[in-house]
Amino acid sequence: MSGLQPVRGTHDLFPNDIRRHRKVIDTARAVAERYGYGEIATPIFEFSEVFQRTLGDTSDIVTKEMYSFTDRGGDNITLRPEYTAGIARAFISGGLQQHLPLKFFCHGPMFRYERPQKGRLRQFHQIDVELLGVAQPQGDIEIIALGWDILVALGLSESCVLELNTLGDGTSRAAYRKVLVEYLGAHRDKLSEDSRGRLERNPLRVLDSKDEADRKIVAGAPGFEQHLNLESAAFFATVRAGLDALKIPYKLNPRLVRGLDYYCHTAFEFTTTALGAQGTVMGGGRYDGLIEAMGGPSTPGIGWAAGIERLAMLIAEPPSPARPLAVVPMGAEAEAMAQVLARDLRRIGFAVELGYSGNLKKRLQRANRVKARAALILGEDELQRQAIAVRDLDSGDQQEVPLNRLETHLARFR
Ligand code: ATP
Ligand code: MG
Repeated sequence: MSGLQPVRGTHDLFPNDIRRHRKVIDTARAVAERYGYGEIATPIFEFSEVFQRTLGDTSDIVTKEMYSFTDRGGDNITLRPEYTAGIARAFISGGLQQHLPLKFFCHGPMFRYERPQKGRLRQFHQIDVELLGVAQPQGDIEIIALGWDILVALGLSESCVLELNTLGDGTSRAAYRKVLVEYLGAHRDKLSEDSRGRLERNPLRVLDSKDEADRKIVAGAPGFEQHLNLESAAFFATVRAGLDALKIPYKLNPRLVRGLDYYCHTAFEFTTTALGAQGTVMGGGRYDGLIEAMGGPSTPGIGWAAGIERLAMLIAEPPSPARPLAVVPMGAEAEAMAQVLARDLRRIGFAVELGYSGNLKKRLQRANRVKARAALILGEDELQRQAIAVRDLDSGDQQEVPLNRLETHLARFR
């Protein structure tokens, strides 16, 4: 243990950080609500099997990245590494199938035991949207358009690129898997250890390997295109036509398979070159088999998740909060009155800073430091005359204002 340090890969979020996070979250929520997505919150921890069953035993998340523990009652618990499994669990345990289609928006912390670096943390935050109960490609178009519109609203559409692929339906994937295993099997000796392991259990994931040697082999692998059956090809064509109609630019990336095992048809990522190695800001896809695999009713689903830290690094500085008024009492009597005045002003909507100690000069310095718009100086003489000295801290003008006209006078500082 290293005393009073934060755990590696975790960050404190101070007010400036939170303002950036809030900008991302509030913008995303506002756009999502216009698409009819309602905000939900699921627990930060679930029974470990929720993630084990859904993410598949071969995914990096399950094999290497989960924060799991046995609680005092002996239950195996995992801090959520992603949203989809928890939402699918909520859909099943909440008996929501009569209410389909369902559209959800959520945001919150995620936990993965990863190698921390810029844009890669052990506790990070995501916004996430899920659309349940829509099997048609219109759902894929909508969910991508929603992601795109959020990036547009955040001012990031110029710096982000949509990469798009299809994983086809189960039949197409089985056909492709066979050719892919044959090809990769012929190069088995040169594959990384991880990829040799995946070769049997989940060969598609080798396509997404970050290992240099793997990448060379993958570059020569047969493509999925030729193995898509008619239905899958038509599905993908509809998605692409929909994106074209909405003028959402994309780049086809036949190697894009996503990290998780339960995806089919559309897979996509929004990436940027502005963040170095951790360039994926949003990733998602269709997961029609997931809910049934978890023991629920067969229900199609599609969604995406975006990293709030990565988006927060990209956006422009959010506007500063409203400038406060500074109340500056002089003397014991004024001190008591200052608290009352400050509260009255807060109640009518002003942000008010109240120095706690120091002489006039000290308090005015502090008022400037907090970028106060005006100082309300409560001196003994003025109070005797039922008045307050109001100093405009931008122009330096000072006026004595009778208490009963204060609110009217302050309107200029709103
Ligand atoms: P990567 O390839 O970067 O590991 P991933 O495929 O594991 O990403 P997802 O599970 O799709 O990522 O998560 C969606 C988004 O959440 C990512 O695109 C990224 O913006 C963000 N994200 C994922 N892992 C982290 C992390 N450890 N720290 C910060 N953000 C993360
Ligand atoms: Mg990852």
